[in-house]
Amino acid sequence: MSDYFLEIKDLKTHFPVERGIFFRHEVGRVKAVDGVNLSQSQGEILGLVGESGCGKSTLGRSILQLIRPSSGEVMLDGKSLTRMQGEALRLARADFQMIFQDPFASLNPRMTVLDALSEAMLTHNKALSEQELKPTVTGLMKRVGLSPQYLRKYPHEFSGGQRQRIAIARALAVNPKLLVADEPVSALDVSIQAQIINLLAQLAKEMDLTLIFISHDLSVVKHISDRIAVMYLGRIVELGPAEEVFSNPLHPYTKALVSAVPTADPHSERQRKRIILPGDPPSAMNPPPGCPFHPRCPYAINDCSQTLPAFDSLDGSHHQASCIRLRELEPGVPNQA
Ligand code: SF4
Repeated sequence: MSDYFLEIKDLKTHFPVERGIFFRHEVGRVKAVDGVNLSQSQGEILGLVGESGCGKSTLGRSILQLIRPSSGEVMLDGKSLTRMQGEALRLARADFQMIFQDPFASLNPRMTVLDALSEAMLTHNKALSEQELKPTVTGLMKRVGLSPQYLRKYPHEFSGGQRQRIAIARALAVNPKLLVADEPVSALDVSIQAQIINLLAQLAKEMDLTLIFISHDLSVVKHISDRIAVMYLGRIVELGPAEEVFSNPLHPYTKALVSAVPTADPHSERQRKRIILPGDPPSAMNPPPGCPFHPRCPYAINDCSQTLPAFDSLDGSHHQASCIRLRELEPGVPNQA
């Protein structure tokens, strides 16, 4: 039995692209997730970052089997989710839940908070009596920082931050072990973002939840994550302890992301030089050969377009990146204090 609570092995999610009006035929495949390997311990918070379109949301949904992967395996607590079908998968869903970017879209506008949370609880625990239900829902409301006086209100009567708290409560109602939060704060005001991030961190700690926090913004995942995985064009290009990835980014793409994060210290902020990458990420339908980052990489050499780099570390540690020039490039962001 593995030491890891969640194990993702060579996961691929490819979508067929079809053309033709009368006779549809496949003309290519979008390789949204293209060979991801990841492991996570129970209670660990993993930040998953990358530009929009890099495949991070598809990866989150593929892990939870909301999108069935094309190949590879997802093991949760020793059970293969990818091999589960039908009723077995439906029952297992209580163990893993997702929180979406837009809480308004993920809540039923015709259900009060009490109804929405009761419904979720009853799918998980049908034995709950009516007398037990209301205090349990009230307890859950308090846990996510909402007053029980809101129990009879509808989603449109809440602010964005409160709605995200309700969405979190609904996800927790089934007592999950794994939570995937997909850009949970990007639709919220900046002043509210920190509250939701802190709430998720606190809940993960209290409930020993394994959490995958997906964001396009490295500064958002910095404070909540134990480890950070950086994704580019369907692959993980760097993985390591959050502090390490920030202070010593190894992969040229991570260096560019870190260089874009403002610092609180005015002196460092004045020294900060942003690395501007040329062009846009290539299409996931036609990823470039070799290292997928080579058309935009400031350090690319001829070999980069020939060889797909393996995941490697500088010192045998858990801080790893996929770059054939790993040992030649200085760790950290160049020209920064
Ligand atoms: Fe850049 Fe080459 Fe490293 Fe890819 S392998 S990140 S192109 S230096």
